[in-house]
Amino acid sequence: MNSINRRTWLRSSILTVGGAAVLPHLAWGETAKAPITLDNFGRASYSPFFKEYIPRQLEEVALKAKLNANENPYGPSPKAIEAFRDMATKGNRYAWKELFDLIDKIAAKEGVSSKHIIMGPGSSDLLEKVGMVFFFEKGGNVVSADPSYMSLMKVAEATGAEWKPVPLKDDWSHDLEAMEKAIDSNTKLVYICNPNNPTGTLTDAQELYDFCSRVSEKVPVFVDEAYLEFMPEKDQKSMVSLVSKGKDVIVARTFSKIHGMAGIRVGYVVGQPETLNRINKITRGGMGITLPSVYAAKASMDDVEFQTKTRKLNNEAKEYVYASLKKQGFEYVPSYTNFMIFPLAMDGQAYLDKMYAQGVGVRSFEILGKSWCRVSMGTMDEMKLFTEALQQVAG
Ligand code: PLP
Repeated sequence: MNSINRRTWLRSSILTVGGAAVLPHLAWGETAKAPITLDNFGRASYSPFFKEYIPRQLEEVALKAKLNANENPYGPSPKAIEAFRDMATKGNRYAWKELFDLIDKIAAKEGVSSKHIIMGPGSSDLLEKVGMVFFFEKGGNVVSADPSYMSLMKVAEATGAEWKPVPLKDDWSHDLEAMEKAIDSNTKLVYICNPNNPTGTLTDAQELYDFCSRVSEKVPVFVDEAYLEFMPEKDQKSMVSLVSKGKDVIVARTFSKIHGMAGIRVGYVVGQPETLNRINKITRGGMGITLPSVYAAKASMDDVEFQTKTRKLNNEAKEYVYASLKKQGFEYVPSYTNFMIFPLAMDGQAYLDKMYAQGVGVRSFEILGKSWCRVSMGTMDEMKLFTEALQQVAG
């Protein structure tokens, strides 16, 4: 496919994404109730718009470039590694006072009191617990964009709640107006991921702020900011300030991305103490976080240089991939994160299998009947392996 054809094709797929936003409500509701299917890893595929391909030969492949989980290839910070290593000797103790110290440090950074924070072993733990606690008592529904990061919605659905997906807009930002309209008397929570996964795209901070401010008067709003720190510092507009203003907004942050600590497992949410008390019913106050992890998180927060370096190298990798995709005739969706998506002119399953066979692990999705690749930014060497494999497989 030449680049002009690819461009036309991309435009048509994006228009289709937008087109779906105006589907008549009845047709939309019918599609949304399609039966849930499980893939061979037990992952559920719920979305009428969005499906994930799973590599067939995952166990056999030793990956040369692991670009499938939006990890930070440069982490953890040397200071975090040192702290983790030193504290391994204290692994016979529970983290207790040390955890409170970390909470105080995070509270000071976020400009809230420590009562506004709950820690967990990764933000997934807290997303899942919110998914349980908000819905297991009375059911109800959760409104979110589609496609988006599904952790919370999957757990909510498992408790019997309904997921009300609202398509992203043509520019891949959240359709906040449509999301507000989708809220009904059974809505228990709204979930927003900004910047969004798997698209890497951004919703305007001021619009989101106004939305959260207004909507949280009716229903709590959960804002997942896992990737916010990949943006230039001046553009990192967190919704935490709404928590300080007393709004029922819950903001999730993680040490897995900019801090490069995905395997060390530390995350937190910031919210109103009353809302956090609900979540606390089913958590043990960060008991899942190991003592060395607590020290690693503290050390990493102080290592600003490491975070700046990650941001810089991530941007360089993105620029390289943009240029290479362009050269190969691919369109792409500009990203605000450490990953990006681009459309494929071939079957997503075949693409994934062929990329894995080359030792390059990426993700592949079907969005509205078309195949897309999501590639995480690794080191420059990994990105070169990726672009070479791409040329062979799909060029
Ligand atoms: N939120 C988003 C949007 C993510 O993409 C991820 C992981 O990829 C998470 C949360 C969970 O991260 P963790 O549990 O490692 O904090």
